[in-house]
Amino acid sequence: MSDMETLLRGKPEADIARIKAAYEYATRMHADQKRLSGEPYVTHVVAVAVMLNEMKLDTTSLVAGLLHDTLEDTSATAQDIEKHFGKDVLFLVKAVTKIKELEERGTQETSYKTLMRMIFAMAEDVRVIFIKIADRIHNLRTLQYLPPEKRRRKALESIKIYAPIAERLNMGDMKGRIEDLAFPHAYPKEYAELLEQSSRYYKERVVYAERVKPKIIKYLYDYGVRDSIVDYRVKRYFSLFEKLKRYEENFELIYDLVAFRIVVPDIARCYEVLGILHQQYRPLPKRVKDYIAMPKPNGYQSLHTTVFCEEGAIVEFQIRTKEMHAHAESGIAAHWAYGESGKRNIKAETAELEWVNKLKRWKELIADHREFFEALKLDMFRNRIFVFTPKGDIKDLPEGSTPVDFAYAIHSDIGNHCAGSKINGKMISLDHQLQNNDVCEILVSKKQKPSRGWLDSVKTIEAARRIKHVLGLVKKSRA
Ligand code: MN
Repeated sequence: MSDMETLLRGKPEADIARIKAAYEYATRMHADQKRLSGEPYVTHVVAVAVMLNEMKLDTTSLVAGLLHDTLEDTSATAQDIEKHFGKDVLFLVKAVTKIKELEERGTQETSYKTLMRMIFAMAEDVRVIFIKIADRIHNLRTLQYLPPEKRRRKALESIKIYAPIAERLNMGDMKGRIEDLAFPHAYPKEYAELLEQSSRYYKERVVYAERVKPKIIKYLYDYGVRDSIVDYRVKRYFSLFEKLKRYEENFELIYDLVAFRIVVPDIARCYEVLGILHQQYRPLPKRVKDYIAMPKPNGYQSLHTTVFCEEGAIVEFQIRTKEMHAHAESGIAAHWAYGESGKRNIKAETAELEWVNKLKRWKELIADHREFFEALKLDMFRNRIFVFTPKGDIKDLPEGSTPVDFAYAIHSDIGNHCAGSKINGKMISLDHQLQNNDVCEILVSKKQKPSRGWLDSVKTIEAARRIKHVLGLVKKSRA
């Protein structure tokens, strides 16, 4: 099937017309342009649209994907695009174009600005980031045509900026693709070494998994679990590269090089499968992780266990429902994608959307791109923790946050009048560092006001900005 057929398949008439029109427009506009690979330029924008379609995104995203390079590289005008394709498409194309212009300058200074612009555009319309990610992945695939210096810069930028954003949005599959495509160009020597050293282990493990898989299916079947899907996944290279650094480069200690993955219809089944596995195979102590009851701070859910499996091999199992699986692979895109009913399945309470909404508020709080970058580094590149209110609402905070950060995350009034805190029922000082899954109660008093001392311990930009504001340390926040 051709790429265009893939894009049109199963779509309603009106959408087909819009996609065709965008394709024709892009083809006409890029008519005399070629990629460095020598292919017609339009192949790039079609590849981007195909990826957006794989993410099951809406037609506006696909149209914007097809047009994403027309404003910058061709004679197309904003008025033209808005007239033929509408406001949303124009917004997306403009946002992507502005980000690209900054990226091309390639200095440290502009890379902060790029990041800020990208994040704020994403906060307006999260589809901006889907298009940028698809664009980046296709560019990474054709990176070998760039001169060496630019190739390395693009690869590093992908690993340091794009992969963490994809991760923050729980797009595990895209994050993995970006890293594995960039890895050989960013760290060629390390990549070659890893490839050579790991190939024997990968081969052994895959052969083992193939041999053992039918046995596991049979055990589950005999125990009455007949609706599960048993498979295995092979660890991606870059992820292995990172993990080996923490495990003294010892392959023998990487139990999830090839991990079994069991997907079941519901949560009760997850625990049932865990029980069956533990009856069959002795678990390693302290390796059972219930990320269903206690999700990872990015919202990831699954049961993990590492067991002495067939032939004495130590193997990791991951057990999850279909929904958990979709969420782990495509994150926010899974919520943005059209559901089968044709209705968009956005749940406002998802952790990723909450993050995007928080970023919208940053726009008023943050004065310049350097301050923005510092705040983002904390928020994105550091570990995060989940902290609960006594009613069970969750706040997502950077590691090291205090009850004051938590109070401001709930509401600026609560922060401003925060007089004390209880953590898991005990009175604790306001500069105490919260832990993942703590339950935190804030005691408020009308008389209480922010103190200068709070600034020494708070971690979040929201808290610091509001405190400074009340203390008169900032004149005005940017409108
Ligand atoms: Mn492009």
